[in-house]
Amino acid sequence: MSEIIKTEAVVLSKLNYGDTSLIVSLFTKELGKISAILKGGRSPKTKLGLKVDPVNYIEVVFYNKSTRDLQLISSADIIEHYPGIKAELEKLKYAYSIIELVKNLTPEHEQNLRLFKGMIRIFSLLESSPEKANTIFARFLLFFLKETGYPVQLEKCSSCRINDLKGVQLYYDFASGLLCEKCAEEYAGSVIINQELFNCLKSLKTNKLLESISAGVIDQAIVFMEKYLKYHIPDFKGIMSLQLLK
Ligand SMILES: [Zn+2]
Repeated sequence: MSEIIKTEAVVLSKLNYGDTSLIVSLFTKELGKISAILKGGRSPKTKLGLKVDPVNYIEVVFYNKSTRDLQLISSADIIEHYPGIKAELEKLKYAYSIIELVKNLTPEHEQNLRLFKGMIRIFSLLESSPEKANTIFARFLLFFLKETGYPVQLEKCSSCRINDLKGVQLYYDFASGLLCEKCAEEYAGSVIINQELFNCLKSLKTNKLLESISAGVIDQAIVFMEKYLKYHIPDFKGIMSLQLLK
């Protein structure tokens, strides 16, 4: 037996299938990530295939059967299609990076309401906030790390536990966390965290405005978080969409 589900969703990807159909990956509010088929979705008689397009925030109705790999979409309507993101390559690059993380690193059929809401919020910020796109993406990445079970720890040295870190040269060991200069000697693989990068990560975490922090440091923070995620998920090869404009 299959049940009819009506839910909000973000379209993660879309592939041609057969002569007229499409196979799509959706991140849904109710069921997390699902794969679905849109029969006849490429036929010129239907506009359905155009609505179900990557990045779009839609309301979708589908027949769900958890024992089946592909669910069957019956209808879809656009809630938001983010013309501002699609008009700017820089914004689109980060929107695709978000989609890539959710598509590759979240389990199928597992609801994650916080991640769903976080994704919609970040898309609306990318669409209309005056803040730089890389800063908005860095906020998402830090949030995503926490949601996937790998929070970046910045409060104290993870070894000796001192939390007065003023004037201390800091290091980070991907397995253990933040380290003070003294403790870092015992962790061969730890990397230096310069003060600017540390302040940047802290500001991202506390949602402070980042006007005074240079775009270069934000990019450093993104690279740091990407490496951190790679360390914890060996199958993860990095965010391909970030290479889009390089
Ligand atoms: Zn220490």
